Amino acid sequence: MKEPSNADVSIVGSGIAGTTIAYLLTKWGHRVAMFEVGPMYDYPFLKQYTDEIVHLYRDPRYKIGPGLRKLEVTGDYRDLEPEQYLVVGGMASHWSGWTPRWLPSHFETKRRFGYGVDWPIRYADIEPYYCKAEAHLGISGTDDDNPFAPPRSKPYPLPPFEFGYGDKVLAGRLKEKNIVLHTAPQARTRAPYDGRPACANTGVCGVCPIGARYAPQHHLRLAMETGRLTLETNAAVRRILADRDGVVSGLLFYRDNRQATESSARTLVVAAGAIESARLLLLSAREGGAAGRINQSGQVGQNLMFPHIWPAIYTYAEPLYTGRMGPATAECHQFAEPPGQEKHGGLKIDFSSNLGVFHRDYAGGAGDDWEEGVPSLHPPWHNRQELLKEVDRGRFQREVGIHAESVPTPEKYVGLSKLVDRFGDPVARVQHQSNEFDEAAKQYAFSIAKLFASATRAKDFEQVQEFSTGHHHHGTCRMGSDPAHAVVDSYGQVHGFRNLFVAGASIFASTSPFNPTLTIVALAIRTAERIHASLS
Ligand SMILES: Cc1cc2nc3c(=O)[nH]c(=O)nc-3n(C[C@H](O)[C@H](O)[C@H](O)COP(=O)(O)OP(=O)(O)OC[C@H]3O[C@@H](n4cnc5c(N)ncnc54)[C@H](O)[C@@H]3O)c2cc1C
Repeated sequence: MKEPSNADVSIVGSGIAGTTIAYLLTKWGHRVAMFEVGPMYDYPFLKQYTDEIVHLYRDPRYKIGPGLRKLEVTGDYRDLEPEQYLVVGGMASHWSGWTPRWLPSHFETKRRFGYGVDWPIRYADIEPYYCKAEAHLGISGTDDDNPFAPPRSKPYPLPPFEFGYGDKVLAGRLKEKNIVLHTAPQARTRAPYDGRPACANTGVCGVCPIGARYAPQHHLRLAMETGRLTLETNAAVRRILADRDGVVSGLLFYRDNRQATESSARTLVVAAGAIESARLLLLSAREGGAAGRINQSGQVGQNLMFPHIWPAIYTYAEPLYTGRMGPATAECHQFAEPPGQEKHGGLKIDFSSNLGVFHRDYAGGAGDDWEEGVPSLHPPWHNRQELLKEVDRGRFQREVGIHAESVPTPEKYVGLSKLVDRFGDPVARVQHQSNEFDEAAKQYAFSIAKLFASATRAKDFEQVQEFSTGHHHHGTCRMGSDPAHAVVDSYGQVHGFRNLFVAGASIFASTSPFNPTLTIVALAIRTAERIHASLS
């Protein structure tokens, strides 16, 4: 027996994709019911900041229920479980906020360079939505110093974060070698914006205590104030229900992650991240009947893509006073469309001003050891002297991220495992094996990392040998015009269903060397407009 819902739209997942859609739909007068598997943090994150940064403590109130993050991971990238941020706000409650627009070529690498898959939309289609997404998130930035920026029809809503001392030194050295280092657009307020204060430069964006770094909780709060949003936390959605062909009728979720409950749904948006969205669609489709058609293409879970980020650490002879200007500062887009792109794709290079000791090692939000029940953090120092030594060392260093593209192959997918979760459902099986393109991209990334080390006159250069996804998970419900090869259309609507949508990077047709989240939000706004039109 389904619990009747009076919502016009039900949304699975309260990350930045789901929240953007919920905020817009409630603003336009629709009622929304949101289901989120994780708990709710206090917002802004002052308490979390005090707990985790000042006292090195994690509050057990935020503990994620046992077994909920479980995955089976095979292939060459094993670090995925800690990348599951199952909390209200999802990953963007703890992200860094780099928000470059993708370049026109990123939407058509197949046609231009012969690798990857072309999107059913082009840059010109998404450009107006980039403007809306920048206004939604309050992006600080400028293209004045970036000769590689794509065309834009509206200025950034906020001025840029200027270079700090270290950026100026590095930019000067790179300029001597004809390399342009420029400021980085980011979801961090250079001035007060939309009820958020200006950044106070605490330098710990991951748990910004004042809400200057954008978090989905900002719009969640505004949506709740309309009285048209209900948010069910600790509510794992396990199945999409469909009684008739092409029509979703409801969902099955576990209230308090315990009690199985069915809720009716008129329009359903799945915005649970690329891994869990694919899993939910697969679990639902294998029930057969009308729901079976969700995976009529056989493409659900296929085309998983991780952009490969190759970190490097440069140490300089003189102090660059790293860590004083907030984390996201300087970027270089000069190598995004390089000669030889058809063999290895392009790159983005970011010179983060993170003081590594405060970021890389322990300030990470929900990706932690909760499941072992350890409620405190483990910093890499044991006393004040060791901490000061680390901070002093950090002043001479810069962390560089070399972001490379990747391509889908049959060896990269999300399926269902034989392992089951606490509800008896198969967990996601994530298989990722790099191919020749990834290897060529790696060699190219390493050569550019070396070039930057010598051009900036680094005394020491440590190339990290394992890639990171940067928590960027793409594909699995890819968009395309042909229902035989794609799960959704360019609006995120599942082919063959009139009231089922997917939002988030799972619908991306390709990767890019540029961070994904501005593009996620632009597409989510496009989806919200489509749903609004269908309800009006
Ligand atoms: C530390 C960190 C730094 C980052 N920095 C950047 C950056 O600088 N720039 C950038 O572009 N990107 C960055 N990212 C990535 C960015 O945060 C993500 O791309 C983006 O937040 C994804 O949003 P989403 O809403 O699609 O998915 P998610 O954030 O994954 O949200 C999905 C939500 O669904 C919930 N959920 C999952 N399964 C279920 C279920 N069965 N039932 C109910 N709820 C469910 C999850 O708990 C989660 O809240 C970073 C991420 C992290 C973690």
